[in-house]
Amino acid sequence: MMKQDLKSLNRKEMINWFKKENYPGFRAEQVFNWIYKNGVDSFHEMTNLPEELRSELDEKASVKSNLLLKKTLQASDGTIKYLWELTDGETLESVYLPFYEDMRHSVCISTQLGCAMNCIFCATGKGGLVRNLTTGEIIDQVLEIQKDISSGEFGKPGITNVVLMGMGEPLANFDNVIKAVEILNDEKGFAIGIRRITVSSSGLVPGIRRLAELNLQLVLAVSLNAPNDLLRNTLMPINRKYPLDELLSAVKYYIKKTSRRVTFEYILIDNVNDSPEQAYELVSLLRGIKCHLNLIPLNPVRGVKYRRPAREKILLFRDIIEKNGIAVTIRQERGPDIEAACGQLRHSGSKG
Ligand code: SAH
Ligand code: SF4
Repeated sequence: MMKQDLKSLNRKEMINWFKKENYPGFRAEQVFNWIYKNGVDSFHEMTNLPEELRSELDEKASVKSNLLLKKTLQASDGTIKYLWELTDGETLESVYLPFYEDMRHSVCISTQLGCAMNCIFCATGKGGLVRNLTTGEIIDQVLEIQKDISSGEFGKPGITNVVLMGMGEPLANFDNVIKAVEILNDEKGFAIGIRRITVSSSGLVPGIRRLAELNLQLVLAVSLNAPNDLLRNTLMPINRKYPLDELLSAVKYYIKKTSRRVTFEYILIDNVNDSPEQAYELVSLLRGIKCHLNLIPLNPVRGVKYRRPAREKILLFRDIIEKNGIAVTIRQERGPDIEAACGQLRHSGSKG
């Protein structure tokens, strides 16, 4: 019999699982607390459970990490990239990003092995989709990084922000991702504020509408990358399925349902989408939408011929957007020396 991975269950499901196994619900709460508040990964360390219960649970369920740490790379700015091996031998990457100025401890985690979207500028998309990650595998990235960065006591310093912006398209693995968000946000789980959790999507319209219905107060980031369909079709094949008018109407629906500001991400690629005319086109596209625009200078990816624009062109693009009343920032680059930056994560199957 396959053991039940308890980290793939949110608290409510865990309580139900315990009841189904004829244990009282409060035992589930105790186990939940051990996992997320104490970072414990074996039943035998759960000292407030009777010995017999610990052994029984050990037979039926697992709280062991789904990830085996293979390698870490630390950048000069404190960013750490983690390479994990999963139980089926596949590998996976996640990134820890400390922002010492404002005491933020952020992690960027993956939601799929590879990605089916095949955006032309992205390393992850190159090898196609291998499979979805389970909720337990998504959660373990945060849990294991939390263990690694804790000095002495588990959770000190605590991870404050989670961005689902690593490998994969989160909304293509909707249920597992939402469950992971619930565990991260749960008071009795990681207790990370919902507004400090960001889900980044390439624009899966049905997923955005489903997310709107849930009315979670998380940050939705949408990767735009082009101001019109003609160009977006060439950069992001998903645009042929969900063109800009459909995408933006789903985004507006999301804003209406949640009253939240949406973030648009726009990778700047030299001589592709960075002209002043394109900046003006972007302004008209986004006018009237409650949003924030995040400009991301392209990160180099092996086997991709595109380059980032020169600094002056990036600033000019930003100035046009700003002067026209749209909130805009240029993303501060992190860990470029270890290829931990956006779009540079890949799993072993897609090397070279
Ligand atoms: N699949 C989701 C989330 C993962 S990609 C999405 O596409 O939004 C996370 C971010 O990295 C996206 O905004 C994407 O546009 C960006 N990205 C991908 N490749 C990049 C590259 N080479 N340089 C800079 N950003 C990149
Ligand atoms: Fe997938 Fe996002 Fe990369 Fe596109 S940018 S291939 S959606 S991970």
